[in-house]
Amino acid sequence: VDDLKDKASEQLNEFRKAHTTPVGNVTTGSGAPLGVNAKTTSLSTGTTGYILLQDSVLLEELAHFNRERIPERVVSAKGAGAFGQFEVTEDFSKYCKTTIFNKGKKTQVAVRFSSFGSENGTADTERDIRGFSIKFYSEDGVWDLVGANTPVFFIQDPMNLPSLVHAMRRNPVTHLKDADMFWDYITLRPETVHQILFLFSDRGLPDGYRHMNGYGIHAYKLTNKNGESFFCKFHLKTNQGIRNLTPDQALFLASMESDYCTRDLFNAIGEKRCPSWTLCAQIIPESEALELAKTANNLFDATKVWSQKTYPLINIGKLTLNRNPKSYFSEVEQLAYSPANLVQGIDVSPDKLLQGRIFAYSDSQRYRLGPNYQQLCANSNPCLKTKTYQRDGDNFVDLTEGGPNFFPNSYNGPVEKPGIQESCNVIPETTTSRHVLKEEDHFSQAKVFYKEVLKDEEQKNLAKNIACHLQRAHSCLQDKVLALFQQVDEQLHKDIATYLAEYQAAIFETEVALATSQKKTDAKSN
Ligand code: NDP
Repeated sequence: VDDLKDKASEQLNEFRKAHTTPVGNVTTGSGAPLGVNAKTTSLSTGTTGYILLQDSVLLEELAHFNRERIPERVVSAKGAGAFGQFEVTEDFSKYCKTTIFNKGKKTQVAVRFSSFGSENGTADTERDIRGFSIKFYSEDGVWDLVGANTPVFFIQDPMNLPSLVHAMRRNPVTHLKDADMFWDYITLRPETVHQILFLFSDRGLPDGYRHMNGYGIHAYKLTNKNGESFFCKFHLKTNQGIRNLTPDQALFLASMESDYCTRDLFNAIGEKRCPSWTLCAQIIPESEALELAKTANNLFDATKVWSQKTYPLINIGKLTLNRNPKSYFSEVEQLAYSPANLVQGIDVSPDKLLQGRIFAYSDSQRYRLGPNYQQLCANSNPCLKTKTYQRDGDNFVDLTEGGPNFFPNSYNGPVEKPGIQESCNVIPETTTSRHVLKEEDHFSQAKVFYKEVLKDEEQKNLAKNIACHLQRAHSCLQDKVLALFQQVDEQLHKDIATYLAEYQAAIFETEVALATSQKKTDAKSN
Protein backbone atom coordinates (compact mmCIF):
# COMPACT_ATOMS: atom_id res chain seq x y z
CA VAL A 1 0.00 0.00 0.00
CA ASP A 2 2.91 2.31 0.85
CA ASP A 3 4.06 2.12 -2.78
CA LEU A 4 0.81 3.85 -3.80
CA LYS A 5 1.60 6.94 -1.70
CA ASP A 6 1.95 10.15 -3.69
CA LYS A 7 4.83 12.64 -3.55
CA ALA A 8 3.09 14.89 -1.01
CA SER A 9 2.41 11.94 1.36
CA GLU A 10 6.05 10.88 1.07
CA GLN A 11 7.46 14.25 2.18
CA LEU A 12 8.59 13.10 5.65
CA ASN A 13 9.94 9.76 4.39
CA GLU A 14 12.03 11.67 1.87
CA PHE A 15 13.45 13.83 4.68
CA ARG A 16 14.41 10.66 6.56
CA LYS A 17 16.04 9.21 3.45
CA ALA A 18 18.09 12.40 3.05
CA HIS A 19 19.11 12.40 6.74
CA THR A 20 19.92 8.87 7.83
CA THR A 21 20.76 10.00 11.40
CA PRO A 22 19.13 12.81 13.51
CA VAL A 23 20.10 16.25 12.23
CA GLY A 24 21.51 17.32 15.61
CA ASN A 25 20.38 17.95 19.18
CA VAL A 26 17.11 19.68 19.94
CA THR A 27 17.65 23.08 21.56
CA THR A 28 15.70 25.91 23.18
CA GLY A 29 14.92 28.92 21.00
CA SER A 30 18.10 30.50 22.33
CA GLY A 31 20.18 27.51 21.28
CA ALA A 32 20.83 25.61 24.53
CA PRO A 33 20.65 21.81 23.97
CA LEU A 34 17.88 19.98 25.87
CA GLY A 35 18.70 16.98 28.01
CA VAL A 36 16.86 13.64 28.20
CA ASN A 37 13.12 14.05 28.98
CA ALA A 38 13.34 17.85 28.74
CA LYS A 39 11.34 17.86 25.48
CA THR A 40 8.57 15.61 26.82
CA THR A 41 8.30 16.28 30.55
CA SER A 42 7.66 19.46 32.50
CA LEU A 43 9.54 20.42 35.65
CA SER A 44 7.30 19.51 38.58
CA THR A 45 7.38 18.97 42.36
CA GLY A 46 6.50 15.29 42.09
CA THR A 47 5.19 12.76 39.60
CA THR A 48 1.69 14.28 39.90
CA GLY A 49 2.84 17.56 41.34
CA TYR A 50 2.83 21.29 40.68
CA ILE A 51 4.67 22.71 37.71
CA LEU A 52 7.39 25.27 38.43
CA LEU A 53 7.28 28.74 36.90
CA GLN A 54 11.01 28.41 36.35
CA ASP A 55 10.42 25.76 33.67
CA SER A 56 11.39 28.11 30.87
CA VAL A 57 11.42 25.23 28.38
CA LEU A 58 7.73 24.57 29.00
CA LEU A 59 6.86 28.27 29.09
CA GLU A 60 8.64 28.88 25.78
CA GLU A 61 6.92 25.88 24.13
CA LEU A 62 3.41 26.94 25.19
CA ALA A 63 3.92 30.65 24.60
CA HIS A 64 5.35 30.08 21.13
CA PHE A 65 2.52 27.69 20.24
CA ASN A 66 -0.05 30.34 21.23
CA ARG A 67 1.53 32.69 18.71
CA GLU A 68 1.89 30.29 15.76
CA ARG A 69 -1.03 31.69 13.80
CA ILE A 70 -0.92 35.12 12.22
CA PRO A 71 -4.11 36.87 11.02
CA GLU A 72 -5.49 34.98 8.06
CA ARG A 73 -5.71 36.90 4.80
CA VAL A 74 -9.02 38.77 4.76
CA VAL A 75 -9.58 37.44 1.22
CA SER A 76 -7.92 34.48 -0.53
CA ALA A 77 -6.97 32.84 2.77
CA LYS A 78 -6.73 29.27 1.48
CA GLY A 79 -3.99 28.81 -1.06
CA ALA A 80 -0.93 27.00 -2.32
CA GLY A 81 2.37 28.24 -3.66
CA ALA A 82 5.28 27.17 -5.82
CA PHE A 83 8.42 28.64 -7.34
CA GLY A 84 10.09 28.74 -10.71
CA GLN A 85 11.10 31.08 -13.46
CA PHE A 86 9.75 33.31 -16.16
CA GLU A 87 11.65 33.26 -19.46
CA VAL A 88 11.05 35.82 -22.20
CA THR A 89 10.68 34.06 -25.55
CA GLU A 90 9.52 37.00 -27.73
CA ASP A 91 10.94 40.50 -27.78
CA PHE A 92 8.54 42.65 -25.76
CA SER A 93 11.01 45.48 -25.04
CA LYS A 94 9.39 47.64 -27.73
CA TYR A 95 6.42 48.03 -25.37
CA CYS A 96 8.11 48.10 -21.96
CA LYS A 97 11.53 49.03 -20.64
CA THR A 98 11.67 46.70 -17.64
CA THR A 99 14.54 44.23 -17.93
CA ILE A 100 12.01 41.48 -17.05
CA PHE A 101 10.81 41.65 -20.69
CA ASN A 102 14.20 41.60 -22.45
CA LYS A 103 14.32 38.68 -24.90
CA GLY A 104 15.96 35.61 -23.34
CA LYS A 105 15.82 37.06 -19.81
CA LYS A 106 15.04 34.61 -17.01
CA THR A 107 13.51 35.92 -13.77
CA GLN A 108 12.86 33.94 -10.58
CA VAL A 109 9.19 33.86 -9.57
CA ALA A 110 6.95 32.85 -6.67
CA VAL A 111 3.33 32.03 -7.52
CA ARG A 112 0.44 31.77 -5.08
CA PHE A 113 -2.90 30.29 -6.09
CA SER A 114 -5.93 30.68 -3.85
CA SER A 115 -9.72 30.71 -3.55
CA PHE A 116 -10.98 34.28 -3.35
CA GLY A 117 -13.78 33.97 -0.78
CA SER A 118 -12.11 31.19 1.21
CA GLU A 119 -11.18 30.84 4.84
CA ASN A 120 -8.20 28.75 5.95
CA GLY A 121 -9.63 25.24 5.84
CA THR A 122 -12.13 25.81 3.03
CA ALA A 123 -12.17 22.89 0.58
CA ASP A 124 -10.06 23.61 -2.51
CA THR A 125 -12.85 22.45 -4.80
CA GLU A 126 -15.56 24.90 -3.71
CA ARG A 127 -16.98 27.03 -6.51
CA ASP A 128 -15.02 30.27 -6.33
CA ILE A 129 -12.78 32.63 -8.26
CA ARG A 130 -9.17 31.41 -8.02
CA GLY A 131 -6.39 33.90 -7.25
CA PHE A 132 -3.27 33.63 -9.46
CA SER A 133 -0.52 35.95 -8.18
CA ILE A 134 3.04 36.10 -9.45
CA LYS A 135 6.03 37.73 -7.77
CA PHE A 136 8.90 38.47 -10.18
CA TYR A 137 12.20 38.95 -8.29
CA SER A 138 13.90 41.14 -10.90
CA GLU A 139 16.98 43.33 -10.87
CA ASP A 140 14.59 46.30 -11.31
CA GLY A 141 12.85 45.41 -8.02
CA VAL A 142 9.96 43.10 -7.16
CA TRP A 143 7.01 43.15 -9.56
CA ASP A 144 3.75 41.59 -8.38
CA LEU A 145 1.11 40.67 -10.95
CA VAL A 146 -1.87 40.00 -8.69
CA GLY A 147 -4.42 38.26 -10.89
CA ALA A 148 -7.12 35.61 -10.99
CA ASN A 149 -8.45 32.81 -13.22
CA THR A 150 -11.12 35.10 -14.70
CA PRO A 151 -10.46 38.12 -16.93
CA VAL A 152 -12.86 40.38 -14.97
CA PHE A 153 -13.74 41.14 -11.36
CA PHE A 154 -17.11 41.62 -9.61
CA ILE A 155 -16.88 45.36 -8.97
CA GLN A 156 -15.45 48.54 -10.45
CA ASP A 157 -14.96 50.75 -7.43
CA PRO A 158 -12.86 49.77 -4.37
CA MET A 159 -15.47 51.38 -2.10
CA ASN A 160 -17.57 48.26 -2.76
CA LEU A 161 -14.94 45.67 -1.86
CA PRO A 162 -15.77 45.19 1.84
CA SER A 163 -19.50 44.78 1.13
CA LEU A 164 -18.86 42.33 -1.71
CA VAL A 165 -16.72 40.16 0.55
CA HIS A 166 -19.19 40.44 3.45
CA ALA A 167 -22.02 39.32 1.16
CA MET A 168 -20.03 36.27 0.04
CA ARG A 169 -19.03 35.31 3.58
CA ARG A 170 -20.87 34.43 6.79
CA ASN A 171 -23.98 36.06 8.23
CA PRO A 172 -22.65 38.01 11.25
CA VAL A 173 -25.43 36.65 13.50
CA THR A 174 -25.85 33.03 12.41
CA HIS A 175 -22.22 32.60 11.32
CA LEU A 176 -23.58 30.69 8.31
CA LYS A 177 -23.04 31.26 4.60
CA ASP A 178 -26.19 33.06 3.53
CA ALA A 179 -27.55 32.81 -0.03
CA ASP A 180 -29.90 35.75 0.63
CA MET A 181 -26.97 38.04 1.45
CA PHE A 182 -25.13 36.94 -1.68
CA TRP A 183 -27.98 37.27 -4.17
CA ASP A 184 -29.33 40.46 -2.63
CA TYR A 185 -25.95 42.09 -3.17
CA ILE A 186 -25.58 40.73 -6.71
CA THR A 187 -29.01 41.97 -7.81
CA LEU A 188 -28.34 45.43 -6.36
CA ARG A 189 -24.94 45.72 -8.08
CA PRO A 190 -25.54 44.58 -11.67
CA GLU A 191 -21.92 45.26 -12.65
CA THR A 192 -21.23 41.89 -10.95
CA VAL A 193 -23.19 39.94 -13.58
CA HIS A 194 -20.26 39.36 -15.99
CA GLN A 195 -18.12 37.84 -13.24
CA ILE A 196 -21.08 35.84 -11.93
CA LEU A 197 -21.36 34.14 -15.33
CA PHE A 198 -17.69 33.08 -15.13
CA LEU A 199 -18.14 31.94 -11.53
CA PHE A 200 -21.12 29.69 -12.27
CA SER A 201 -19.81 28.46 -15.63
CA ASP A 202 -17.79 25.23 -15.88
CA ARG A 203 -14.60 27.24 -15.27
CA GLY A 204 -15.85 28.07 -11.76
CA LEU A 205 -14.62 24.61 -10.72
CA PRO A 206 -11.12 24.27 -12.22
CA ASP A 207 -9.48 20.85 -11.93
CA GLY A 208 -6.60 22.02 -9.75
CA TYR A 209 -4.48 25.10 -10.30
CA ARG A 210 -2.50 23.70 -13.24
CA HIS A 211 -5.44 23.50 -15.61
CA MET A 212 -6.65 27.08 -15.49
CA ASN A 213 -5.68 30.33 -17.19
CA GLY A 214 -4.62 33.43 -15.32
CA TYR A 215 -5.52 37.05 -16.07
CA GLY A 216 -4.06 40.29 -14.74
CA ILE A 217 -7.63 41.72 -14.90
CA HIS A 218 -6.65 45.41 -14.80
CA ALA A 219 -5.11 47.54 -17.51
CA TYR A 220 -1.52 48.55 -16.73
CA LYS A 221 0.44 51.34 -18.36
CA LEU A 222 3.71 50.30 -20.02
CA THR A 223 6.46 52.67 -21.16
CA ASN A 224 9.39 51.76 -23.42
CA LYS A 225 12.94 53.15 -23.54
CA ASN A 226 11.85 55.85 -26.03
CA GLY A 227 9.21 57.14 -23.64
CA GLU A 228 6.30 55.74 -25.71
CA SER A 229 3.41 54.44 -23.62
CA PHE A 230 0.84 51.68 -24.08
CA PHE A 231 -1.99 50.25 -22.02
CA CYS A 232 -1.80 46.52 -21.53
CA LYS A 233 -3.79 43.60 -20.13
CA PHE A 234 -1.84 40.48 -19.17
CA HIS A 235 -3.07 36.89 -19.76
CA LEU A 236 -1.53 33.57 -18.74
CA LYS A 237 -2.59 30.63 -20.89
CA THR A 238 -2.18 27.23 -19.29
CA ASN A 239 0.03 24.85 -21.28
CA GLN A 240 -1.65 21.89 -19.54
CA GLY A 241 -4.98 22.69 -21.23
CA ILE A 242 -8.16 23.88 -19.51
CA ARG A 243 -9.76 21.15 -17.39
CA ASN A 244 -12.70 21.55 -15.01
CA LEU A 245 -14.41 19.39 -12.41
CA THR A 246 -18.09 18.53 -12.58
CA PRO A 247 -20.13 19.69 -9.55
CA ASP A 248 -20.42 16.03 -8.42
CA GLN A 249 -16.65 15.49 -8.63
CA ALA A 250 -16.04 18.75 -6.73
CA LEU A 251 -18.48 17.71 -4.00
CA PHE A 252 -16.91 14.27 -3.69
CA LEU A 253 -13.41 15.76 -3.46
CA ALA A 254 -14.53 18.37 -0.91
CA SER A 255 -15.45 15.54 1.45
CA MET A 256 -12.69 13.04 0.54
CA GLU A 257 -9.70 15.27 -0.29
CA SER A 258 -10.41 18.85 0.66
CA ASP A 259 -6.85 19.95 -0.24
CA TYR A 260 -7.12 18.50 -3.74
CA CYS A 261 -5.63 21.45 -5.64
CA THR A 262 -2.75 21.92 -3.17
CA ARG A 263 -1.86 18.21 -3.34
CA ASP A 264 -2.14 18.14 -7.14
CA LEU A 265 0.27 21.07 -7.51
CA PHE A 266 2.77 19.64 -4.99
CA ASN A 267 2.73 16.19 -6.60
CA ALA A 268 3.06 17.47 -10.16
CA ILE A 269 6.13 19.54 -9.28
CA GLY A 270 7.54 16.83 -6.99
CA GLU A 271 7.25 14.31 -9.85
CA LYS A 272 8.88 16.78 -12.28
CA ARG A 273 5.69 17.27 -14.30
CA CYS A 274 6.35 20.99 -14.04
CA PRO A 275 3.33 23.12 -14.99
CA SER A 276 3.80 26.11 -17.27
CA TRP A 277 1.83 29.01 -18.68
CA THR A 278 2.39 31.34 -21.64
CA LEU A 279 2.35 35.00 -20.62
CA CYS A 280 0.63 37.12 -23.27
CA ALA A 281 -0.50 40.72 -23.51
CA GLN A 282 -3.15 42.81 -25.21
CA ILE A 283 -1.78 46.20 -26.17
CA ILE A 284 -3.41 49.56 -26.96
CA PRO A 285 -1.12 52.56 -27.67
CA GLU A 286 -1.72 55.30 -25.09
CA SER A 287 -2.93 57.91 -27.59
CA GLU A 288 -5.48 55.45 -29.05
CA ALA A 289 -6.62 54.41 -25.56
CA LEU A 290 -7.13 57.99 -24.40
CA GLU A 291 -9.14 58.73 -27.55
CA LEU A 292 -11.25 55.60 -27.00
CA ALA A 293 -11.73 56.40 -23.31
CA LYS A 294 -13.59 59.60 -24.31
CA THR A 295 -16.48 57.53 -25.68
CA ALA A 296 -16.08 54.08 -24.12
CA ASN A 297 -16.66 53.83 -20.39
CA ASN A 298 -15.17 50.41 -20.10
CA LEU A 299 -11.51 50.62 -21.09
CA PHE A 300 -10.33 50.90 -17.48
CA ASP A 301 -13.26 49.07 -15.92
CA ALA A 302 -12.32 45.83 -14.15
CA THR A 303 -15.73 44.29 -14.92
CA LYS A 304 -15.05 44.38 -18.69
CA VAL A 305 -12.61 42.69 -21.08
CA TRP A 306 -10.89 44.05 -24.16
CA SER A 307 -12.09 42.02 -27.12
CA GLN A 308 -9.36 39.73 -28.38
CA LYS A 309 -10.77 40.14 -31.86
CA THR A 310 -9.71 43.80 -31.80
CA TYR A 311 -6.70 43.42 -29.50
CA PRO A 312 -5.22 39.97 -30.13
CA LEU A 313 -2.89 38.33 -27.63
CA ILE A 314 0.84 38.90 -28.12
CA ASN A 315 3.11 36.20 -26.67
CA ILE A 316 5.82 37.33 -24.25
CA GLY A 317 7.27 34.27 -22.56
CA LYS A 318 6.90 31.15 -20.48
CA LEU A 319 6.27 30.86 -16.75
CA THR A 320 7.34 27.49 -15.32
CA LEU A 321 6.89 26.23 -11.77
CA ASN A 322 9.60 23.73 -10.81
CA ARG A 323 10.10 23.94 -7.04
CA ASN A 324 7.81 23.19 -4.14
CA PRO A 325 8.03 25.21 -0.90
CA LYS A 326 10.53 23.95 1.66
CA SER A 327 8.44 25.56 4.40
CA TYR A 328 4.80 26.44 3.72
CA PHE A 329 4.64 29.11 6.42
CA SER A 330 7.84 30.98 5.67
CA GLU A 331 7.73 30.67 1.89
CA VAL A 332 3.99 30.81 1.08
CA GLU A 333 2.00 32.09 4.07
CA GLN A 334 4.50 34.94 4.38
CA LEU A 335 4.37 35.75 0.66
CA ALA A 336 2.87 39.22 0.49
CA TYR A 337 1.55 40.37 -2.88
CA SER A 338 0.47 43.87 -3.71
CA PRO A 339 -0.30 45.57 -7.03
CA ALA A 340 1.69 48.49 -5.55
CA ASN A 341 4.89 46.52 -6.21
CA LEU A 342 5.74 47.76 -9.69
CA VAL A 343 9.01 48.25 -11.55
CA GLN A 344 10.15 50.93 -13.99
CA GLY A 345 8.18 50.70 -17.22
CA ILE A 346 5.07 49.20 -15.59
CA ASP A 347 2.61 51.64 -14.04
CA VAL A 348 -0.98 51.76 -12.93
CA SER A 349 -3.84 52.84 -15.17
CA PRO A 350 -6.89 54.91 -14.20
CA ASP A 351 -8.72 51.68 -13.24
CA LYS A 352 -10.41 52.66 -9.94
CA LEU A 353 -10.32 49.13 -8.54
CA LEU A 354 -6.59 48.85 -9.23
CA GLN A 355 -6.03 52.22 -7.55
CA GLY A 356 -7.85 50.95 -4.44
CA ARG A 357 -6.05 47.59 -4.41
CA ILE A 358 -2.71 49.42 -4.37
CA PHE A 359 -3.51 50.62 -0.87
CA ALA A 360 -5.63 47.72 0.35
CA TYR A 361 -3.20 44.90 -0.47
CA SER A 362 -0.07 46.55 0.97
CA ASP A 363 -2.04 47.60 4.03
CA SER A 364 -3.37 44.09 4.62
CA GLN A 365 0.21 42.74 4.47
CA ARG A 366 1.32 45.31 7.08
CA TYR A 367 -1.54 44.13 9.29
CA ARG A 368 -0.75 40.42 8.76
CA LEU A 369 3.04 40.50 8.79
CA GLY A 370 4.05 43.85 10.28
CA PRO A 371 5.53 47.01 8.75
CA ASN A 372 8.73 45.24 7.70
CA TYR A 373 7.00 42.48 5.72
CA GLN A 374 9.05 43.32 2.64
CA GLN A 375 12.22 42.30 4.49
CA LEU A 376 10.96 38.74 4.98
CA CYS A 377 12.83 36.21 2.82
CA ALA A 378 9.68 35.39 0.84
CA ASN A 379 9.27 39.01 -0.23
CA SER A 380 12.79 40.34 -0.46
CA ASN A 381 14.64 40.26 -3.71
CA PRO A 382 17.73 38.05 -3.80
CA CYS A 383 18.87 40.01 -6.91
CA LEU A 384 19.21 43.32 -5.12
CA LYS A 385 19.60 44.95 -1.73
CA THR A 386 16.90 47.45 -0.78
CA LYS A 387 18.18 50.77 0.57
CA THR A 388 15.50 52.75 2.34
CA TYR A 389 15.31 55.31 5.12
CA GLN A 390 12.63 53.24 6.87
CA ARG A 391 13.71 52.16 10.34
CA ASP A 392 12.54 50.03 13.26
CA GLY A 393 9.14 48.47 13.86
CA ASP A 394 8.30 44.78 14.37
CA ASN A 395 10.98 42.39 13.11
CA PHE A 396 13.12 45.12 11.58
CA VAL A 397 16.48 43.88 10.28
CA ASP A 398 19.00 46.70 9.95
CA LEU A 399 20.94 46.26 6.72
CA THR A 400 22.16 49.85 6.63
CA GLU A 401 25.56 49.26 8.29
CA GLY A 402 25.05 52.33 10.45
CA GLY A 403 23.94 54.71 7.69
CA PRO A 404 21.88 57.83 8.41
CA ASN A 405 18.08 57.55 8.90
CA PHE A 406 17.19 60.92 7.40
CA PHE A 407 17.20 62.31 3.86
CA PRO A 408 18.77 64.42 2.51
CA ASN A 409 21.99 64.02 4.44
CA SER A 410 25.69 64.82 4.07
CA TYR A 411 26.85 61.37 5.31
CA ASN A 412 26.72 59.35 2.08
CA GLY A 413 23.43 57.60 2.73
CA PRO A 414 21.69 56.26 -0.42
CA VAL A 415 20.86 58.91 -3.03
CA GLU A 416 18.20 59.30 -5.73
CA LYS A 417 19.06 57.85 -9.14
CA PRO A 418 19.10 60.25 -12.09
CA GLY A 419 17.31 59.02 -15.20
CA ILE A 420 14.50 57.12 -13.46
CA GLN A 421 11.32 58.62 -14.86
CA GLU A 422 7.88 57.94 -13.45
CA SER A 423 5.25 57.91 -16.16
CA CYS A 424 3.25 61.09 -16.41
CA ASN A 425 -0.47 60.98 -17.11
CA VAL A 426 -2.66 63.44 -18.98
CA ILE A 427 -5.77 64.13 -16.91
CA PRO A 428 -8.66 65.50 -18.99
CA GLU A 429 -10.44 68.51 -17.55
CA THR A 430 -12.71 67.17 -14.86
CA THR A 431 -14.22 67.80 -11.45
CA THR A 432 -13.78 65.85 -8.24
CA SER A 433 -16.97 64.14 -7.17
CA ARG A 434 -18.21 60.68 -6.21
CA HIS A 435 -18.74 60.04 -9.94
CA VAL A 436 -21.41 57.53 -10.87
CA LEU A 437 -21.33 56.37 -14.47
CA LYS A 438 -24.70 56.96 -16.08
CA GLU A 439 -26.37 54.51 -18.51
CA GLU A 440 -23.72 51.94 -17.96
CA ASP A 441 -23.83 48.80 -20.05
CA HIS A 442 -23.27 45.84 -17.72
CA PHE A 443 -24.86 43.30 -20.02
CA SER A 444 -23.37 43.44 -23.56
CA GLN A 445 -20.18 41.53 -22.73
CA ALA A 446 -22.12 39.14 -20.50
CA LYS A 447 -24.49 38.46 -23.44
CA VAL A 448 -21.55 37.75 -25.78
CA PHE A 449 -20.06 35.40 -23.21
CA TYR A 450 -23.32 33.50 -22.83
CA LYS A 451 -24.37 33.43 -26.50
CA GLU A 452 -21.08 33.23 -28.39
CA VAL A 453 -18.44 31.78 -26.07
CA LEU A 454 -20.34 29.09 -24.15
CA LYS A 455 -21.39 25.95 -26.04
CA ASP A 456 -24.98 24.64 -25.66
CA GLU A 457 -24.03 22.19 -22.91
CA GLU A 458 -22.02 24.87 -21.06
CA GLN A 459 -25.03 27.22 -21.22
CA LYS A 460 -27.22 24.56 -19.58
CA ASN A 461 -24.54 23.87 -16.94
CA LEU A 462 -24.37 27.60 -16.17
CA ALA A 463 -28.15 27.77 -15.62
CA LYS A 464 -28.08 24.59 -13.50
CA ASN A 465 -25.20 25.86 -11.32
CA ILE A 466 -26.93 29.20 -10.71
CA ALA A 467 -30.21 27.45 -9.85
CA CYS A 468 -28.42 25.07 -7.48
CA HIS A 469 -27.07 28.00 -5.45
CA LEU A 470 -30.19 30.13 -5.82
CA GLN A 471 -32.54 27.48 -4.40
CA ARG A 472 -31.13 28.35 -0.96
CA ALA A 473 -32.37 31.97 -1.23
CA HIS A 474 -35.84 33.28 -0.36
CA SER A 475 -38.40 33.31 -3.19
CA CYS A 476 -38.59 37.12 -3.47
CA LEU A 477 -34.83 37.16 -4.12
CA GLN A 478 -35.12 34.32 -6.60
CA ASP A 479 -37.53 36.49 -8.63
CA LYS A 480 -35.06 39.38 -8.57
CA VAL A 481 -32.21 37.11 -9.69
CA LEU A 482 -34.32 35.72 -12.52
CA ALA A 483 -35.06 39.27 -13.64
CA LEU A 484 -31.33 40.06 -13.57
CA PHE A 485 -30.41 37.11 -15.80
CA GLN A 486 -33.34 37.89 -18.12
CA GLN A 487 -31.34 40.98 -19.06
CA VAL A 488 -28.48 38.70 -20.15
CA ASP A 489 -30.59 36.28 -22.18
CA GLU A 490 -34.19 35.07 -22.31
CA GLN A 491 -33.13 31.39 -22.63
CA LEU A 492 -30.79 31.67 -19.62
CA HIS A 493 -33.67 33.10 -17.60
CA LYS A 494 -35.99 30.25 -18.69
CA ASP A 495 -33.41 27.54 -17.97
CA ILE A 496 -32.61 28.89 -14.49
CA ALA A 497 -36.36 28.99 -13.70
CA THR A 498 -36.81 25.38 -14.91
CA TYR A 499 -33.83 24.01 -12.95
CA LEU A 500 -34.90 26.00 -9.89
CA ALA A 501 -38.33 24.36 -9.97
CA GLU A 502 -36.67 20.93 -10.33
CA TYR A 503 -34.32 21.54 -7.38
CA GLN A 504 -37.22 22.78 -5.24
CA ALA A 505 -39.36 19.72 -6.11
CA ALA A 506 -36.44 17.39 -5.26
CA ILE A 507 -35.82 19.19 -1.95
CA PHE A 508 -39.55 19.03 -1.11
CA GLU A 509 -39.59 15.26 -1.78
CA THR A 510 -36.48 14.75 0.38
CA GLU A 511 -37.98 16.79 3.22
CA VAL A 512 -41.26 14.81 3.06
CA ALA A 513 -39.31 11.50 3.13
CA LEU A 514 -37.20 12.71 6.09
CA ALA A 515 -40.29 13.89 8.01
CA THR A 516 -42.06 10.54 7.38
CA SER A 517 -39.12 8.47 8.58
CA GLN A 518 -38.78 10.77 11.61
CA LYS A 519 -42.45 10.22 12.46
CA LYS A 520 -41.98 6.44 12.22
CA THR A 521 -38.95 6.55 14.52
CA ASP A 522 -40.85 8.77 17.01
CA ALA A 523 -43.88 6.40 16.95
CA LYS A 524 -41.63 3.38 17.65
CA SER A 525 -39.84 5.09 20.56
CA ASN A 526 -43.20 6.15 22.07
P1 NDP B 1 -12.91 35.99 -28.45
O1 NDP B 1 -13.76 34.99 -29.12
O2 NDP B 1 -11.72 36.54 -29.18
O3 NDP B 1 -12.38 35.44 -27.05
C1 NDP B 1 -13.19 34.66 -26.27
C2 NDP B 1 -12.42 34.25 -25.06
O4 NDP B 1 -13.24 33.40 -24.27
C3 NDP B 1 -11.14 33.48 -25.31
O5 NDP B 1 -10.12 34.18 -24.67
C4 NDP B 1 -11.30 32.14 -24.60
O6 NDP B 1 -10.19 31.83 -23.82
C5 NDP B 1 -12.44 32.41 -23.67
N1 NDP B 1 -13.27 31.23 -23.49
C6 NDP B 1 -13.54 30.25 -24.35
N2 NDP B 1 -14.36 29.33 -23.79
C7 NDP B 1 -14.60 29.77 -22.55
C8 NDP B 1 -15.35 29.27 -21.47
N3 NDP B 1 -16.02 28.11 -21.59
N4 NDP B 1 -15.39 29.96 -20.34
C9 NDP B 1 -14.71 31.12 -20.22
N5 NDP B 1 -13.97 31.66 -21.20
C10 NDP B 1 -13.92 30.98 -22.35
O7 NDP B 1 -13.91 37.15 -28.05
P2 NDP B 1 -13.75 38.45 -27.18
O8 NDP B 1 -12.35 38.70 -26.77
O9 NDP B 1 -14.45 39.53 -27.92
O10 NDP B 1 -14.56 38.05 -25.90
C11 NDP B 1 -15.91 37.60 -25.98
C12 NDP B 1 -16.37 37.28 -24.60
O11 NDP B 1 -15.52 36.24 -24.11
C13 NDP B 1 -16.20 38.44 -23.62
O12 NDP B 1 -17.37 39.23 -23.55
C14 NDP B 1 -15.89 37.76 -22.33
O13 NDP B 1 -17.09 37.52 -21.64
C15 NDP B 1 -15.29 36.42 -22.74
N6 NDP B 1 -13.83 36.36 -22.54
C16 NDP B 1 -13.04 37.35 -23.06
C17 NDP B 1 -11.72 37.40 -22.75
C18 NDP B 1 -10.89 38.53 -23.22
O14 NDP B 1 -9.85 38.81 -22.63
N7 NDP B 1 -11.29 39.22 -24.27
C19 NDP B 1 -11.07 36.35 -21.92
C20 NDP B 1 -11.98 35.30 -21.52
C21 NDP B 1 -13.30 35.34 -21.80
P3 NDP B 1 -9.45 30.40 -23.92
O15 NDP B 1 -8.64 30.47 -25.16
O16 NDP B 1 -8.66 30.33 -22.73
O17 NDP B 1 -10.49 29.32 -23.97
